[in-house]
Amino acid sequence: MLISGSEARELEPDISPEIVMALHSPETGIIDSHALMASFERDIIESENGELVYSTSVTRIDPYAPSNLALGVPNVDAQHDGWVVQIVTRKADEMSSDEGDALLARTLINSSGLSSNLILNSLVPHDARIPMYYARGSYAAYNGPGVGRVSRLLYPCPNIGKVDGHAIQSLGTHLTLDLLGNVKFGPDIQWISPAPVLACGREENQYLNEDIFSYDEKNIDFWKQHLAADDTQLVAMYEAVKTYLPGVEATKFRPDYVGIRPKLVPAWGGFQDFVFRRDRSSDFLGAIKKGGGEDGVMISLMGIESPGLTASLAIADDVVYMLAAS
Ligand SMILES: Cc1cc2nc3c(=O)[nH]c(=O)nc-3n(C[C@H](O)[C@H](O)[C@H](O)COP(=O)(O)OP(=O)(O)OC[C@H]3O[C@@H](n4cnc5c(N)ncnc54)[C@H](O)[C@@H]3O)c2cc1C
Repeated sequence: MLISGSEARELEPDISPEIVMALHSPETGIIDSHALMASFERDIIESENGELVYSTSVTRIDPYAPSNLALGVPNVDAQHDGWVVQIVTRKADEMSSDEGDALLARTLINSSGLSSNLILNSLVPHDARIPMYYARGSYAAYNGPGVGRVSRLLYPCPNIGKVDGHAIQSLGTHLTLDLLGNVKFGPDIQWISPAPVLACGREENQYLNEDIFSYDEKNIDFWKQHLAADDTQLVAMYEAVKTYLPGVEATKFRPDYVGIRPKLVPAWGGFQDFVFRRDRSSDFLGAIKKGGGEDGVMISLMGIESPGLTASLAIADDVVYMLAAS
């Protein structure tokens, strides 16, 4: 509900006297993300035929029909259409080599976050490839003055970027409370990209370069090096926070943790909702090679940034609905 600035200050006395209106959401809360993941894990393990495989990467996916036995995949011998999924399991013991395997899936859910486009791009034609843009979000822990009476999550107006008034990029550096009641600020937004490539003898940035696939695909996990929390963002975070909590002190912000958002549009691309994409194995095989039975279906969950975790059960319902309708 929309409330006035003075009503907001009755609820949260630490917020700025300059705030004239606020949107109050009495039912907003926080979830224990680790407990939620543990419960999903338990659901899978306890389900009939459910199995969890750790330290294992999908390295390649090929559409499969019995008449089109994928070359080099000797373990596959099935009579129905689907997807050949090649996987590699990392060995914990450094002396042993990684182990490869292949399996046939009738139905595949591609929910690989920042890699979700890579799996599709290996299947689709060159000009239909899907780009990924990477938006780093940092959190700062805060232990200091100016927040002593805060009891709710506090969000400033969303960050709409400088180019387009509707180009919402992030929710803005907000105040969140962890399960122990500690204050954290974040996430901010910092666009990162793979190392520039040399094109026509000069360096080009991924976001200025028309062919954003021109970076070295071997360096596709470049974002991992940006996961370490550092103090480079603290001053900007302090500046953002003091607009709504003027009593905070810059020296009390500490780097806490970092995540990377899988963005389907660049900084100037406007708002982009989650994408749930359905592909059929026959789309990639052509009618002649189709096995004659039901298609293999792949659902790709793409651009699942915040609030993807909160929405995870609703997303799963949608996936089930899409599969039932296939
Ligand atoms: C800074 C930040 C703050 C956020 N805050 C919130 C919040 O407050 N509330 C909220 O609801 N959501 C929040 N989110 C969003 C939430 O984290 C995501 O929506 C959610 O994690 C998306 O889940 P996912 O399974 O699609 O992708 P991920 O969580 O990215 O999981 C993908 C998994 O696939 C694996 N993978 C990748 N490639 C392969 C491969 N080739 N083979 C096998 N496995 C692979 C990865 O290792 C990973 O385990 C936040 C995100 C960020 C970055």
